[in-house]
Order: sequence, then C-alpha cells, then structure tokens
Amino acid sequence: MPVQYLCIIVLLLTLTGCSTPVTDGRLRVVATTGPVGDIVQVIAGERVVLRTLIGPGIDPHTYVATESDLFALQEAQIVFYNGLHLEAGLDRIFKAMNQSGRIPAIAVAEAIPPHLLLYADEGRNAYDPHVWHDPQRWSYAVRAVRDTLIAVDPGGRAIYHRRTERYLADLQSLDAELRAMAARIPPERRILVTAHDAFQYFGQAYGFRVEAVQGISTASEASATAIRSLTELVVTNRIPAIFVETSVSPRTIEAVQSAARAVGYEVRLGGALFSDSLGDPDGPAGTYVGMMRQNMQTIVSALTDM
Ligand SMILES: [Zn+2]
Repeated sequence: MPVQYLCIIVLLLTLTGCSTPVTDGRLRVVATTGPVGDIVQVIAGERVVLRTLIGPGIDPHTYVATESDLFALQEAQIVFYNGLHLEAGLDRIFKAMNQSGRIPAIAVAEAIPPHLLLYADEGRNAYDPHVWHDPQRWSYAVRAVRDTLIAVDPGGRAIYHRRTERYLADLQSLDAELRAMAARIPPERRILVTAHDAFQYFGQAYGFRVEAVQGISTASEASATAIRSLTELVVTNRIPAIFVETSVSPRTIEAVQSAARAVGYEVRLGGALFSDSLGDPDGPAGTYVGMMRQNMQTIVSALTDM
C-alpha cells in the first residue's frame, strides 16, 4: 500500500470532532463523481454544503485523492460514492471509513439489486460500475441517497421525500425521451464504438450493441488485437462514426480510425461522449439529465448522418 494511503487512513481513523456540524447548521457532504453529486445537489440543495471530488473531464478509474480532498473527507458528515470499484484509487479510503464507522460512506450503485447488474468480465469476478447510464437502474442510487440523508438529518425528511419524488419523475421522463431519440436510428445501425467499455447499461436500455477498445476500466491496456478487431467491425458494418470520450485519451479511437482508413474505409469521429464525468457546470451537460440527453443527441446525430 502506498505511504500516502497509509497516512490518509490513519488520519481518517484518528480524527476527532469530525461529526460537528458546520456553524450554519448545514451538513457537509462529499460526493465522488458528477452523477453522484448531482443526486445530492438536487435532493438536498441548500441543506448541505456539497463537495464533488471528481470534476468534468476527470477519469474516476485512475483518480487519487488530492490534499484538499482529504480535508473535505475529514470534515464530511456523509460521503457518497459510486462504488462497484469505479473509484479504484479511493476504495481503500472508503473501506477504512466504513470500518471505523465514524460517518456513513455509502456506495450508491451498490444499492441496485445484483440481478440488475452486468458483469465486468466473462469470468464474472466483478460488476460493471457504469450503472448511471441507465436512468431506471440509477433510480435505486437516488433512493439510497434520500434514505441516508433522512437518517442523518431527519428534520429534512419531508423536503428529501418531495425532491426525490420529483427527481425520480424527471428520470422517468428522461428515459422516455432517450428511448424516443434512439428510435430514430435504425436498429441495424445501433452499434456504439467507444474508447472504454462504459456504455453496456446504456446499450441494454436503448438497444445498442456496444464495443470498446479498452475494458471496463481505463487502467487496462488497449491491445493491438482489440484495435484490429474493432476496425474489422467498423469496416464490415460500414459504421459511419465512432466516439471519443471526455475523460479518456482519444488515442485509441484515433488508432481505429487510422486502421480503417488504411484499408480504404473512412469512419468519422462522431463527437465526445461523457462516459465517466459530467460536462462543465454551466454547460448543457453540467447536470446528470443534461449529460444523458447530450450523449444521446451526439450518438443519434452521428449514426443517422450517412
Ligand atoms: Zn469508466
């Protein structure tokens, strides 16, 4: 274990006075990813002081805590993270927090019933953590956030319930909207090729075959074999566009494009998808709902433009 983590864990376990509320009475909440932070923001709003650790364009698979993250974690009264090993570099911190029992550290994706989860590999050793790409599954995460907020801050129960109901209704409308958008792409053209394997839940929800150069985690290597077989898929199916991601290097997808060009087939880069983070907070993909809509718009416009 790196020395940095040992220090962090010792720090988190030994700190005292951490559950003291901030002077204005608002709860201090830390979320890891943008989609998790969005749930807290929508449900809890001004009742909490929220710090989201992993910002736009940042890759959660390889993220390690900064010094200021550690301070935020020390002062937090609740920590929400995705879990299912998405934030692999932070796993030990959360495990230590849970063992200490000091404050709740909740893996929201792990509230989803196991029968709704997809495996990350053929060996069925781990689950795919990218559950937020299906709003139906993500609803379980929303309810887990609500229940934890109520347990820690029972005075906000009515507000948390009301805002959760509204958010869940928004997710239902979003799901219907995305379904209608996807329907504009003929089924045989619904093949989504991306840099890393983040869209299996999305594919299952909206009827896409999903193929990626890298595996579930960006920490895995992109092999020459993967690039070759994806190129073959693209050329054989005359796929019009493939996609880079905002939090992943475009290198591997560009390699597929070059390899296709070398055999005389021109495939476009269809745009950048928000695979593992939200967009700029002031932009259209700055919220979970906006990010999901923007991804589908990018996909539909690239795959219907022949
Ligand atoms: Zn990912």
